[in-house]
Amino acid sequence: MKIHTLIVEDDPAVRQSMVEFMRMVGFECDVASNAEEALMLLKTLDTQLVITDIMMPGMNGLELTDAIKKDYDVDVIVMTGYSGHYSYEEAIGKGASDFVFKPIRFQELLLRIRRVLREREFRLERDRMMAELQQLAITDNLTQLYNSRYFFSQLKMEMERASRYTHNLSLMLLDIDFFKNYNDTHGHLEGDVVLGTIGRTIKSCLRTMDTAYRYGGEEFTAILPYTSGEEAVTVAERIRTTIRDITFSPAPDLKTRVTLSVGVTEYAAGENETCFVTRADKAMYISKKNGRNQVSFLPPPSTV
Ligand code: GH3
Ligand code: MG
Ligand code: MG
Ligand code: MG
Repeated sequence: MKIHTLIVEDDPAVRQSMVEFMRMVGFECDVASNAEEALMLLKTLDTQLVITDIMMPGMNGLELTDAIKKDYDVDVIVMTGYSGHYSYEEAIGKGASDFVFKPIRFQELLLRIRRVLREREFRLERDRMMAELQQLAITDNLTQLYNSRYFFSQLKMEMERASRYTHNLSLMLLDIDFFKNYNDTHGHLEGDVVLGTIGRTIKSCLRTMDTAYRYGGEEFTAILPYTSGEEAVTVAERIRTTIRDITFSPAPDLKTRVTLSVGVTEYAAGENETCFVTRADKAMYISKKNGRNQVSFLPPPSTV
């Protein structure tokens, strides 16, 4: 893929020679004759590198660098004459990636461009890896849902938001019924298939602002912001019946089903995470005690 560059230079002769050089060595090259025009062009162009003069009528090249670095992930090389009042430190301080003196020696410029682009590639690669690592740190590998560590951080955040903006917040805890039995009968790997399917199914029954987590071995949770307990029970019922109706085939000629016991509760402003989660857990145990494959709701304490 070609690198897109933008030359910003008020002197038409210098501008023309730079553009010819840049295109000759294989870059895409756009031009602007002042900083204001450059900022307009950047709004629509997909530029990776700007090479700008410093001394220009209107906004100068350092101010332009500053403005670019605030809004874009674009590298900037600044150019100045030996007689200019501008220092290397000033340019780097504004976020420029390098600095070249006029008259431009094209071979030197090319070496500097290549180094800037190489560092850019390293930086982008590192950012991609960081994003991937961050994603891995909050994801459960087997189900591709979020993990329990992320559950607690998100729950805390959602509880604070619900308190601040006084909107409803509901919590759901889902536990597979007799899952030890399923593993013992069909093997752990077949158990893992069930966990994966249940994870996907829970996610597919939720709205985009809801989040689902693998809470423990065969336990899942879902956080439902802006949702009353009553609405959350409806969602829980949909998850329960959808999973109840799925046929698993842990061996050829064998068809089987699994069920979930679900507990639902609603947040009471001011209570702590332990209270909130414990109540959802108690509601889930009521479902277990009453025969499993069902949803139970416990209201927040203030409305009892
Ligand atoms: P209940 O209806 O009371 O919830 O019974 P249960 O058998 O589901 O509950 P119990 O807590 O006794 O057993 C949970 C089982 O979940 C035990 C374990 O074999 C299984 N389990 C936990 N994590 C995993 C996992 O990652 N993969 C598989 N395949 N099974 C798991
Ligand atoms: Mg100039
Ligand atoms: Mg369990
Ligand atoms: Mg269980």
